[in-house]
Amino acid sequence: MFKKILVANRGEIALRVQRACREMGIKAVMVYSEADREAKYVKLADEAVCIGPPASAQSYLNMPAIISAAEVTDAEAIHPGYGFLSENADFAERVEKSGFQFIGPTPESIRLMGDKVSAKQAMIKAGVPCVPGSEGELSEDPVALKRIAKEIGYPVIVKAAGGGGGRGMRVVNTEAALVNAVQMTKAEAGAAFGNPAVYMEKYLQNPRHIEIQVMADKFKNAVYLGERDCSMQRRHQKVIEEAPAPGIARRLIERIGERCVAACKKIGYRGAGTFEFLYENGEFYFIEMNTRVQVEHPVTEWITGVDIVKTQIQVAAGEKLPFTQRQIQIKGHAIECRVNAEDPFKFTPSPGRITTWHQSGGPGVRVDSHAYAGYFVPPHYDSMIGKIIVHGDTREQAIARMQTALAETVVEGINSNIALHRELMADAKFQAGGTNIHYLEKWLEDHQR
Ligand code: ADP
Repeated sequence: MFKKILVANRGEIALRVQRACREMGIKAVMVYSEADREAKYVKLADEAVCIGPPASAQSYLNMPAIISAAEVTDAEAIHPGYGFLSENADFAERVEKSGFQFIGPTPESIRLMGDKVSAKQAMIKAGVPCVPGSEGELSEDPVALKRIAKEIGYPVIVKAAGGGGGRGMRVVNTEAALVNAVQMTKAEAGAAFGNPAVYMEKYLQNPRHIEIQVMADKFKNAVYLGERDCSMQRRHQKVIEEAPAPGIARRLIERIGERCVAACKKIGYRGAGTFEFLYENGEFYFIEMNTRVQVEHPVTEWITGVDIVKTQIQVAAGEKLPFTQRQIQIKGHAIECRVNAEDPFKFTPSPGRITTWHQSGGPGVRVDSHAYAGYFVPPHYDSMIGKIIVHGDTREQAIARMQTALAETVVEGINSNIALHRELMADAKFQAGGTNIHYLEKWLEDHQR
């Protein structure tokens, strides 16, 4: 096992990885930008290295600075967290070329899955069902575009091959809007992701977002850890996640889970990964794979008892997966609310000093957050400041526990979206379960203030 790991991230996930290291008796080196100097996980770290100014491009995305921090501290491995460099194949390659273990899949797997066009092609080959769409990258030829869209059937969605974070997508309802939409998406994709390639898919009208968590080792063992329902989204970004997905038969989950496991073995996947699907009328359609730990991993940890971060470290160190598929039993129900520093209904970011921070506890409550009273939320990064996760024997109990946890939570000095979560947990349709990916957007329109 490693003696020392460098954590190339910030915020709650940096703290999450630090905790896993502590539990495993591994020293964790934290890197930080000048804006995160005061963060508690930095102050409490075994070792900490400043890697640059606040701007991510000069700090958390600065590959040479991160690799030299690993060199000067004698770390053996680098955990990338999520976001930042976690899905950057060039980074994984540089990490390994510099003699460190990258805690994640091989650069080849990251590259294959990082391009959504090649990812879909690989999944089709592996027998994973995909959203019907263009076979590959779209050309700019209007005649060809119109033919492809007609074959798929309107509405279609034009998506950037290199897209992420819910950006680089455009829904097209009519042929008249098609060519322009493809050109605009291409231009945006080129500017935002450095890759102008776009592809086309059928736009599913009322799907749910269901994803399968997998874990694999380098000996071609792979296991799926059940599913998560992440349909409560705003602007294609997840707000609430839960597991298991309400109302989907276990045999359907098992069937798709087994497909994902087979795909992992086929591509030689290693580490934690998530196969994201849209689910409509009893069918799953693959949209993309995330080759890293996800924000919503705690809900899966709670219903399966598997520590995903610890397992990532174990398989990266060359160990075998410490469990088999048969040992994975789903127990109870877990829900996660993402806590963001933003106006709860207008969503304007709200960085600044937190004056009061009271987080809840009690049975079945887990709070993953680096925030505290006196913490300054820097304006430079994502607005997520933590996650409240609850578990119950049933979904009803989990909701009741989340309501209690949200009622106890006090955040002052900045705005937070706790008030939104309180209303959503009390919403009859959410309580009934099985809402689709448009539900939250429509709810927000109906509850404008
Ligand atoms: P990203 O990498 O930016 O997260 P995804 O491909 O995972 O992009 O899509 C994010 C979200 O966009 C999905 O959860 C869903 O809400 C919506 N979406 C993507 N593709 C489709 C589609 N073909 N039909 C309907 N909605 C889609």
